[in-house]
Amino acid sequence: KPEVTIIGAGLAGSEAAWQCVKRNIPVHLIEMRPVQYPAAFHTEQFAELVCSNSLRSNSLNNAVGILKEELRRLDSLIMRSADLHAVPAGSALAVDRTGFSQYITDVLQNHPLVRITHEEVTEIPNGPCLIATGPLTSEALTQSIIDTLHTETFHFYDAAAPIIEKESIDFSKAYYKSRYDRGEASYINCAMNQEEFDAFYDALVHAECARMHDFEQTYFEGCMPIEEMARRGRKTMLFGPLKPVGLQRSPDEHPTAVVQLRQDNVAATMYNIVGFQTHLTWPEQRRVFRMIPGLEHAEFARYGVMHRNSFISSPQVLRETYQSRLRDDLFFAGQLTGVEGYVESCASGLIAGINLARLVSEQEPIVFGRTCIMGSQAYYITHCDPKHFQPMNANFGILQFNEKCRKNERKQKMAEQALDRIDAIKEELDG
Ligand code: FAD
Repeated sequence: KPEVTIIGAGLAGSEAAWQCVKRNIPVHLIEMRPVQYPAAFHTEQFAELVCSNSLRSNSLNNAVGILKEELRRLDSLIMRSADLHAVPAGSALAVDRTGFSQYITDVLQNHPLVRITHEEVTEIPNGPCLIATGPLTSEALTQSIIDTLHTETFHFYDAAAPIIEKESIDFSKAYYKSRYDRGEASYINCAMNQEEFDAFYDALVHAECARMHDFEQTYFEGCMPIEEMARRGRKTMLFGPLKPVGLQRSPDEHPTAVVQLRQDNVAATMYNIVGFQTHLTWPEQRRVFRMIPGLEHAEFARYGVMHRNSFISSPQVLRETYQSRLRDDLFFAGQLTGVEGYVESCASGLIAGINLARLVSEQEPIVFGRTCIMGSQAYYITHCDPKHFQPMNANFGILQFNEKCRKNERKQKMAEQALDRIDAIKEELDG
């Protein structure tokens, strides 16, 4: 079978490579780390999680929870590793980021059908190829994509939250608790009274941000920097990441705000501050976040960062199979296509990888369709109005669901429909 080229060993590229070799298609996987690092990356490992270690909800009541189950049923390498390296996080699936990425790296590096090169690709190659270079695609390749597809790439700004060393947290103030005591008490909580909150708020909205010169400042709502959220009003954070309800330490305590920290590695030595994506300068992060009770002596294992997030105009240039409209053998996957999130990127890599393998095996591509989450995501990014195209998380709103049922049964029925569709696709693929 002819070899295919996959550029970028992130979440999408690693999953796509796995789906190809599973089907006996040899893969040339080209990854520029460690020769060159995009901003926000820290390791040589494949499928590095650049910010939060949470893959979000694991529940079938939630679209991203269903998406995970869809991936599991289609033997996703990313999901296998995530399940193997899960750390306690209530109803979310959070992972030990090092173990998670190392496993994926080992599986691909040791696979006899995978050939790996570490270099920056600057031009789209000829022959069957998949580009999964993510939101921080290097500049030269971005230009080659623009030239090849005759389209502009788009970009907005995104931000990542800081990670704190647990040993530096003051547990005479901080405490473990889950909201309303549901599930395991795996989050660390730092409560603030009114006075502490007011002082923190004032410091946050006046703190110095890192400068951004070259692009207009637009944020993806789901990843808004905490200081931007604060600027929307004194109470806004209290309905978001600082929501205190169900988190008081004892019944007679009524905190104004509660900051939560989520376990970031298996050894439980590092915790990220939930919802604290930020583009404050690093000294300001130390100064302002240390005002949170319990974090006065916090040591930062990693500071929050701000980054560019590029994506192509998929409604204009891609088909639902993640193939480019111009060239059958040119595929795109991951955040670069306008899916948003770790799991969503992985799902697009899975569909693109399967279809790339089918192309070189001279089989018809598979259109997953709008009745499952991963298919509806592919449909959405290739069919929405290009003028208003913005990256999209998995959600129930994009799923086609026509069954009449009671409101309280709706999500369960949607999950059943989606998983039935995936089982049918699996049969077709296996058959
Ligand atoms: P990536 O995982 O970025 O992989 C792309 C790979 O391509 C990288 O390994 C890169 O080194 C390589 N590459 C780039 N250019 C070239 C080139 N020219 N030649 C060769 N290799 C190249 N999503 C969430 O769900 N939760 C979060 O908390 C979250 N936080 C984020 C924080 C940051 C800072 C960023 C950048 C994104 C965040 N995202 C988050 C969004 C998104 O889910 C991730 O970016 C995800 O990693 C995207 O997967 P991907 O496979 O598309 O790209």
